[in-house]
Amino acid sequence: RSLPVDPIEENVPRKVTGACFSLVKPTPVKNPEVVVVSIPALSLLDLPEDEIQKKEFEEYFSGNKILPGAQTASHCYCGHQFGNFAGQLGDGAAMYLGEVVNQKGERWEIQLKGAGHTPYSRTADGRKVLRSSIREFLCSEAMHHLGIPTTRAGSCITSDTTVQRDIYYTGNPIDEKCTIVLRIAETFIRFGSFQICNPPDENTGKDGPSIGHIEVLEQLTDYVIKMLYPQIYEQYGTNKKAACMELFKEVVLRTAKLVAQWQCVGWCHGVLNTDNISILGLTIDYGPYAFMDRYDPKFVSNDSDKGGRYAYEKQAELCKWNCEKLAFSLSQLPYIDLKELNPILDLFLPQYEATYLEIMRKKLGLFQTEPDDVKLIENFMKTMEETGSDFTNSFRCLSRIHLPGCADFTATRSDVLQYLLEQCSTLKEDLKANQPKMEPRELQMTVMLLEMNPQLLDQLGISITSIYDDIKRMEKIKELKAKTAEQKRAEDEQHWARWLNSYMERLAREADGVDDLVKANAHRQQVMNGTNPRFVLRNYIAQYVIDSAEKGDYSEIRHLLHLLQDPFNSDGEVAPLTKVEEDLVASSMADG
Ligand code: AMP
Ligand code: MG
Ligand code: MG
Repeated sequence: RSLPVDPIEENVPRKVTGACFSLVKPTPVKNPEVVVVSIPALSLLDLPEDEIQKKEFEEYFSGNKILPGAQTASHCYCGHQFGNFAGQLGDGAAMYLGEVVNQKGERWEIQLKGAGHTPYSRTADGRKVLRSSIREFLCSEAMHHLGIPTTRAGSCITSDTTVQRDIYYTGNPIDEKCTIVLRIAETFIRFGSFQICNPPDENTGKDGPSIGHIEVLEQLTDYVIKMLYPQIYEQYGTNKKAACMELFKEVVLRTAKLVAQWQCVGWCHGVLNTDNISILGLTIDYGPYAFMDRYDPKFVSNDSDKGGRYAYEKQAELCKWNCEKLAFSLSQLPYIDLKELNPILDLFLPQYEATYLEIMRKKLGLFQTEPDDVKLIENFMKTMEETGSDFTNSFRCLSRIHLPGCADFTATRSDVLQYLLEQCSTLKEDLKANQPKMEPRELQMTVMLLEMNPQLLDQLGISITSIYDDIKRMEKIKELKAKTAEQKRAEDEQHWARWLNSYMERLAREADGVDDLVKANAHRQQVMNGTNPRFVLRNYIAQYVIDSAEKGDYSEIRHLLHLLQDPFNSDGEVAPLTKVEEDLVASSMADG
């Protein structure tokens, strides 16, 4: 790593040149207090459970005390934000404490998020509040336990120090509690880390702060290969070009697989800018993310993403776009030619599709492969969309259909059909979900203006697809208004019955030629219930525990974490709390 060139006292926003890191110090908070800890995440650091309950734990992981041997620093990176190169960004609120090598020999970087000003805080304060910290903490752990690569969260510690936030732009900001999350990952290096050496951007004119410092880029690339992709280092050694090409290939493949995993649990990241894409293919930076309830391919989890750039159905395409930006940055290395990286980029979509199909087959319990499986999956998604079905619950209930020959095939079909119908949306919910983003009159005017002057689009900053989507939504509303609740119910039944028929035909063929049907059926159920979660972190549930925590009750969040640590919960039982968790819950209730 390059040593920082700036004195540690200068945690003031500025341009940092010729370095990847700046030394920083966390700013202390008043009365730090544990909201929740993740025992499995902390165990990565070999931290004994009794240490977690000591007062010192709160001091160290709020940033009030510095761990012995720690050298606290923030990372300088760039990024393309919503399609435009934004120049220097950097850890505006995160600080590295250092690395922990555990008994297994694993090396974990640990950092505090929300510990105060850094040189990269720009106009913000480097703090996070209870809301945002709880969201980051819970989803990191939820993703991990769903088997999706992610940065981890070890603790969430709040305090009596407050900052002002105005979430709904009311003009009346309110005081919120500064809250700090301990993040854990093999690395937090992201695509944006490589963009600090980019030449000035031709569209924005912005440059990376280390412009011309190709040595920094080379050091960073060497570091990533040697420390984080040791198998590549072993294979290619000092052949820098070959190692870097292999690195890019591995990153492209990992990113493609990661997005496929997101899609398969109905999860939207919300801000897939290059500064939020991990060099290790981890899910990183939990902000306006969401697990979908009702399935909608156009679902956008980020309210400020008006154009729907990062909609559910676009995540793969946009992550590929991000890989393209990484290729450009790597090509600044003298030994890398952009043209040679392009064929590697072409591996993205085939890998994405292969992983997606592989997981989807498991979700539907298909172990043989048939060419029409893709259609069966597409039709399932379409049926969920048309009926307004819940993504998680629709998948989960399919394991209740037994293979023919194990139980009464038609009885399980009607049971599942009944369940699917119960969780379809109502007409009222459909009307709400299809509300156009623009007022009808505003939309009409915009369309008229655009017909007269298509260049207006750029000036207004409106995307043409969002206008088309709105027009489609208006048509849909008309159609919905002409319907009665009974009609919707009858149509939903038709949709689901049709799909279930094709599914059962497929299952009959699946059962054909199987010797031990009972065993095959048990295996099928186990795989399906291990791939289709029972619990996901729904937004309203996250909000519920946030509200409780804001009132000082941490028992709800701790209980929720417990459910999220066992999301597949195939036996239907909820795992009991561990001793430490029980003590923590008891102490939080005693605190009132
Ligand atoms: P994000 O959208 O979370 O990836 O953030 C974009 C940039 O804003 C990153 O450089 C963050 O470090 C920075 N940032 C986010 N929140 C804060 C904050 N509360 N204080 C300072 N910088 C922040
Ligand atoms: Mg970020
Ligand atoms: Mg080059």
